[in-house]
Amino acid sequence: MNIPEIYKRLFSFYGDLHWWPAENDFEVLIGAILTQNTSWRNVEKAIESLKSSGQLTIDWIIKMDCKDLALKIRSAGFYNQKAGYIKNACISIKAIYGNLDNMKKNFNEVYDFLSGLKGIGPETRDSILLYALNYRTFVIDKYTLRLFSRLYGKNFSYIEIKSSVEESLKTVFELKNFHAMIVELSKDYCRKKPLCLKCPLNDLCLYGNNRTVTD
Ligand code: SF4
Repeated sequence: MNIPEIYKRLFSFYGDLHWWPAENDFEVLIGAILTQNTSWRNVEKAIESLKSSGQLTIDWIIKMDCKDLALKIRSAGFYNQKAGYIKNACISIKAIYGNLDNMKKNFNEVYDFLSGLKGIGPETRDSILLYALNYRTFVIDKYTLRLFSRLYGKNFSYIEIKSSVEESLKTVFELKNFHAMIVELSKDYCRKKPLCLKCPLNDLCLYGNNRTVTD
């Protein structure tokens, strides 16, 4: 996988996308759980609803009744489940680390901790590690899997793409921005029905090379 060239192309096209859009690390963590199986617009509504009811802090969430929490995040879908995941994550973080800053000291330990939390799958875990805790790691989502399968004409596993990207991109900024640029490219061009002719990765892409005449 030619990650440096793909990154370079996307960066000249999109530049710094300033991801993740949130006021603080805790809001990123909550957003990473809320965004499971829903659009970002719905997450924003849920976060606004939380903020309008009180201060969005770990202690506030812990004190809140789980049913109230579910009602406040209703716009994000699966709200009863997600309220349980958020509440459980906050209680566990408070008990083991006290606060998010204390989670920024030992990648392997925090990786294992997050992997063991209910409702936190690999994509949510890696989003929290990268965007809330600033660890050098990469997030793979369904857009990334689809993009790489089109670029190279074969399916890759989560870990294959993740390892390749982490070997190629050295800084946390690059890793954050690469994921953001992939999401934008997947919304703008590499959609379900891709718009290959105008795509900035066209000449690097096996699928695009075979499709441009018909787009
Ligand atoms: S050329 Fe087409 S298939 Fe390839 S990355 Fe671009 S939009 Fe996706």
